[in-house]
Amino acid sequence: MTTGFVYHELYMWHETGNHAGPVAYGYPVQPYEHEENPETKRRLRNLLEVSGLLERLTPIAPRPATEEEMLRFHTRAHLDKIRSLNETYGADAGMFSPMGHGSYEIALLAAGGVIEAADAVLDGRVDNAYALVRPPGHHALKDLSMGFCLFGNAAVTGFHLLEVRGLERIAFVDWDVHHGNGTQSAFWEDPRALTISIHQDNCFPPDSGYITEIGAGPGEGFNINVPLPPGSGVGAYEAVYDRVVLPALEEYRPDMIIVPSGFDAGAQDPLGRQMLTSEGYRSLTRKIMAAAGALCGGRLLMCHEGGYNASTVPFMGLAVLEEMSGIRTEVTDPFQELLGGMGLQELQPHQDAVIREVEKLLTKPG
Ligand SMILES: [Zn+2]
Repeated sequence: MTTGFVYHELYMWHETGNHAGPVAYGYPVQPYEHEENPETKRRLRNLLEVSGLLERLTPIAPRPATEEEMLRFHTRAHLDKIRSLNETYGADAGMFSPMGHGSYEIALLAAGGVIEAADAVLDGRVDNAYALVRPPGHHALKDLSMGFCLFGNAAVTGFHLLEVRGLERIAFVDWDVHHGNGTQSAFWEDPRALTISIHQDNCFPPDSGYITEIGAGPGEGFNINVPLPPGSGVGAYEAVYDRVVLPALEEYRPDMIIVPSGFDAGAQDPLGRQMLTSEGYRSLTRKIMAAAGALCGGRLLMCHEGGYNASTVPFMGLAVLEEMSGIRTEVTDPFQELLGGMGLQELQPHQDAVIREVEKLLTKPG
């Protein structure tokens, strides 16, 4: 089994400036490092190297996405806006989407990196792939940057797969703790994509990610939101995969599965309140890989989204890439025992109630 890996040092040079968490600085907020900074991503890449796994992955070189590729999802006005903001420093490109000089080119390199990874999987050069790109993408709308995301990396890649590579059906399974609203919006009326988001109820964006958002027109029934209550642990997530995600994928039979991969559902993430561990992410990866193996020749692509705890994110990423590659390293996650031993990791009744509501959708046609 070969696993492709996309990374580029320039991804780390996207500047988000000083903030207090995600809030822009300015009186009365004392400036501090932005939550979406290079550290978690760089440390994940470095742990892959130290563990010995990196050298056993297949490097996939990113390239900038072309304007034609970007315009399959984004409006020309949005591209122009980000390009012009690129000349200034410290601008907010939309809603909580800071960018600096050079971010436009880096964001194109992120989208192009995910496209290259998808092509590598589709062409059989690798069995599956992980694109460790930055800035992230799953909140970006066609005409608005949101939630640290300038462009919709996964959505742009989805349109590439459908309109250039001739796939008929693709499925997104977004495990970032925040709602994958951008990907949802991209395929809202489009039955060629099944968009699934498992997220923390009403975390970000505000007033978004409800069970009742199921798509519209020909896309009705092809969007599934699972808004888990804060405090959901490995048991709740495994139940969502067993009872919602896997049955929905089996029904839909995608040609490829794309996972917008955020590690901010990890316990102790500063921007989420869920309780996943590296072993939890490993378990979910196994389930998704089994589905990809059964339904679409193992074609699985993950693209990096959030995850803001610089200590724990690298181990969650390592666990995912160990599973994807089938290579177990010698590294033991020093946080697993502490986080895995936290109370209420098992499925709780109020979490089960949410999953039961979502299960009702699966019995409807479409
Ligand atoms: Zn997130």
